[in-house]
Amino acid sequence: VSFGYTDVSPEEKTAKVGEVFRNVASRYDLMNDAMSGGMHRLWKDRFVRRVRPRAGEAILDMAGGTGDIAFRLARSGAQVTVSDINAAMLEVGKERAAKKHVEGLAWSEQNAEALSFADRSFDAYTIAFGIRNVTHRQQALAEAHRVLKRGGRFFCLEFSTTLWPGFKEAYDVYSHRLVPKLGKLLAGDEESYRYLIESIRRFPTMEAFRAEIAAAGFVQAKVEPMLGGLVAIHSGWKI
Ligand code: SAM
Repeated sequence: VSFGYTDVSPEEKTAKVGEVFRNVASRYDLMNDAMSGGMHRLWKDRFVRRVRPRAGEAILDMAGGTGDIAFRLARSGAQVTVSDINAAMLEVGKERAAKKHVEGLAWSEQNAEALSFADRSFDAYTIAFGIRNVTHRQQALAEAHRVLKRGGRFFCLEFSTTLWPGFKEAYDVYSHRLVPKLGKLLAGDEESYRYLIESIRRFPTMEAFRAEIAAAGFVQAKVEPMLGGLVAIHSGWKI
């Protein structure tokens, strides 16, 4: 298991990820806008359109953090549970929900690798920019499959590897040189942002991750790349 530029044990990775998100929680939303030039909002809008939430559905937004995906899902009238391993992120999310007058969300501290929900509890499972932080990814996918009802759908939004020549090099320079500096400047935390970039670099290719989703038992596992795969939506069905 890797963290930053050194290899660490799975336990250490989990602890480091906890530390990163405790550190960045209060500046998390500002940083997303700064680093993506506001584009993360468009990616999230598109992601939620693909999920097609409906009134009355039960949806689990895993690694839901400060609520960006959950707020969008909730507009449909779906019953959304926001789950995250990090209490600091959920606290910021609850404050934002109160400010935005988003009601009816359930908040639940959970590790994606070992959920406390019963089998077949949800119609859809979403995870946005979360899966790459999970230490045992295959375990998290197995849990997603377990808590979905038959006919339930799995959706993951994540950074991947862009296949566009030129763009990839530009992005590498941007992410390795600029993002840690932005982290230092805006959040006073260069190391956490170094970790985030490194975790993107080490994430499997779009096809390899698609195969992992299929291996977890999902059918029709597919991937929709955006910006050549800089960001990708993976999805699958439980039957
Ligand atoms: N989904 C939100 C969004 O799109 O803005 C938040 C994404 S944030 C980059 C990643 C989140 O994953 C953090 O809130 C972190 O605490 C959470 N996370 C990391 N490991 C986790 C795990 N094992 N189980 C649940 N959440 C986890």
